[in-house]
Amino acid sequence: MSTYRELLKDANRRMEEADRGEQAALLYLLELTNMEAHNLYMEYEQEVPADIAEQFEQGLCRLIKGEPLGHVLGFEWFYGYRFKVNEDVLIPRPETEELVANVLAAYDEVFDGKQVTVADIGTGSGAIAISLKKEEDRLHMLATDISEKAVMVAKENAAANEATVCFMVGDMLQPLIERNIKLDILISNPPYIPNEEVMEESVVDYEPHVALFGGEDGLKFYRIIFENARKVLNEKAFMAFEMGYDQKERLTALAKEYFPEAKIEVLQDMSGKNRMLFIYLHTDAS
Ligand code: SAM
Ligand code: GLN
Repeated sequence: MSTYRELLKDANRRMEEADRGEQAALLYLLELTNMEAHNLYMEYEQEVPADIAEQFEQGLCRLIKGEPLGHVLGFEWFYGYRFKVNEDVLIPRPETEELVANVLAAYDEVFDGKQVTVADIGTGSGAIAISLKKEEDRLHMLATDISEKAVMVAKENAAANEATVCFMVGDMLQPLIERNIKLDILISNPPYIPNEEVMEESVVDYEPHVALFGGEDGLKFYRIIFENARKVLNEKAFMAFEMGYDQKERLTALAKEYFPEAKIEVLQDMSGKNRMLFIYLHTDAS
């Protein structure tokens, strides 16, 4: 039998020896015990119940092997909502929450509470589309992905979070073009890692490659979207993308090529990295 303090100390030492992330063992224990950090601190010298200790040990072994916490738990929190995740979807990232927040702000500025049609291209777990719909019910929310298995997970997440989103399986904008759908807002966090990039093993070994890699230079999917965007956008519209921190120059140059009249803006994430690209077409913002 051990106390929470002993359990966590031992776990952190083993995680460090395996060269794994510092916070994962603590975050895992908090989720297992349903505690906030300050509650755990109050309980620090108490004995850990046997069933929790056993479950924690099993999960910890998976973390030590390099499995992401989201897979061990089976879910990830995103924008305050809980999303099921598995090997078929990208685990939604904190920087993507900032994309959602900035889209909501831009919606207020450009469309000011109007009903608009919005699509999330490459929705994965559905994190972006579902959070947006939960936060702003006036969005008519569509979402697409090429992976049927991802769309199945996204549909489960929409049901669990009671959000109405219309999901379509297909290649980039194709499902919208086929149905002659016109959008006011297009959002995408496409795969943007260059094919040859060396990555952390907990990402590259466990997350779907179709969600990560964006061709030789990482820009393949932006090109496809830019090339076809006018087929699916209303005249007054905006687009919002997540991007790699080192893609600002190349991506803004590409955006200017396709949308010379647009207002193009790059926003930084909380760690000060260039992370989001906004393109405004014929809006008051332009
Ligand atoms: N939107 C989710 C998020 O932000 O957490 C997932 C983003 S993940 C980086 C990119 C997603 O694009 C994956 O779900 C992947 O299956 C999807 N995808 C890859 N190629 C695609 C294509 N040709 N057409 C549509 N979706 C695609
Ligand atoms: N941010 C993700 C990562 O670092 C990649 C997401 C993407 O390609 N859109 O693994």
